Amino acid sequence: MAEVEGAELMDPMSETSDLDKSCRYLRPVRATIISDDPDGVHLAVYEWLPMFDAWATGMGLCGESMMQGALPEGTVATCASCLEYKPKYERMLAPGYRPEDDDPDVLRQRAETAELQVLQAKALVAKWRQIAAAEEGVRMRVDTAAAVLLATLDGFNDLRAEVEG
Ligand SMILES: [Zn+2]
Repeated sequence: MAEVEGAELMDPMSETSDLDKSCRYLRPVRATIISDDPDGVHLAVYEWLPMFDAWATGMGLCGESMMQGALPEGTVATCASCLEYKPKYERMLAPGYRPEDDDPDVLRQRAETAELQVLQAKALVAKWRQIAAAEEGVRMRVDTAAAVLLATLDGFNDLRAEVEG
């Protein structure tokens, strides 16, 4: 497969035209010739390096050293280890990804906050029922009820803001 080297590398001009320099991408790459499987196709993070004013590929997701430069998009990766890491990296490279999204403690904390807010809303409903039952004929003003429920729902918005960053 030595004949494809170089020839298969993308033209640096066309390669970068529609890429967002603030984003990182996954690209198929070729291992170095010292690899146990020099014909294998691996996956590497492809990112813009401002200090070099160039796009560059890193090491393989599997940790192996790679030749610089991406293979054409669509080249099928053959490295089982790279493919295994691919979903994780795709998630990490997606816009809006934050490292804490993969932190079980942070996710647990968010779930607990949501759970607490549901409990608060339920307690609120129970209180309204209590008031209604205790005082015959009492009618909670609709705007008061709405304001209280809205405050509770705002708690969810806070959570969502926290989730969405
Ligand atoms: Zn690999």
